[in-house]
Amino acid sequence: MHAVGIVAAAGSGLRLGADLPKALVLLAGRPLVAWSVDALLAGGVAEVVVTVPSGQRDAFAAVLPAAVRLVDGGASRTASVRAGLAAAGAAADVVLVHDAARPLTPPDLVRRVLGALGDGHLAVVPALAVVDTTVVVDDAGVITDAPARATLRRVQTPQGFDRAVLASAYAGLAPDADLTDDAAVVRAAGVPVVTVAGDERAAKVTVAHDLALAEAEVAR
Ligand code: C5P
Repeated sequence: MHAVGIVAAAGSGLRLGADLPKALVLLAGRPLVAWSVDALLAGGVAEVVVTVPSGQRDAFAAVLPAAVRLVDGGASRTASVRAGLAAAGAAADVVLVHDAARPLTPPDLVRRVLGALGDGHLAVVPALAVVDTTVVVDDAGVITDAPARATLRRVQTPQGFDRAVLASAYAGLAPDADLTDDAAVVRAAGVPVVTVAGDERAAKVTVAHDLALAEAEVAR
C-alpha cells in the first residue's frame, strides 16, 4: 500500500489571534505544520503534499523536509484539499487527509487508519466519544433537538480513503462546495465511512487555549 498524505495548512491564524498562518505558529519552537507532517511520515505515509496559503511557499519550504510537495490552497478547506489531491503522486493508492492544526497526532493513530484501509475499507475516520450532552439549536439559540449522546462521535484527522474513491467524490462535488471534513465529501457520494478509535492528543489547535494545552502536553 502506497499512502500519500495531504496536509491542509492554508488556513489563517485569525481565531488563534496570530498574525501569521496558523500552520506556522510555533509549538515548543516548531511550526504546527512541521509536527503534523512528521506524524504522518512516522506513521507510515510515503509522501506528503502540503496546501499552503498563497504567497507563503517560501516560508513553508523553510520549515519542512525538502521532499514535501507544496501547493497553493484555496478559499475553503474543501478547495485546499481538492488542490492537494490533484498534486498527489500517481503511485499512491490510498490518501490520508490531515489538518496541519493537529500537531500532536500520535503515529499509532496514523497506523490505525492505514490498517483499516489495508483491511479493505474505502473510507476511515478516527473518532472519539462525546462527553458533553450535545444539542441542536435554531437561529435564536433555542434547543430544537438533543441527539442521544451514545450515538455521537467527535471526528478527527487523519482521515483515510481509497484514492480513486476520494478523487471521484471530489470530482462529483459542486465547485464551490465547502464541507468541514473529507468524510462528508465521500458520504455525499454515497460511500460508507467507518470509524477507528481516535486519540485526545490529535486535538485540533483552534484558539489560544488549545495551544497552551498542546504546550503542556509537549512538556509532559
Ligand atoms: O478552520 P479549521 O480549523 O477547521 O481548519 C482545519 C484545517 O484546514 C487547518 O489545518 C487549516 O490550515 C486548513 N485550511 C486550509 N484551507 C483553508 C482553510 C483551512 O487548508 N482555506
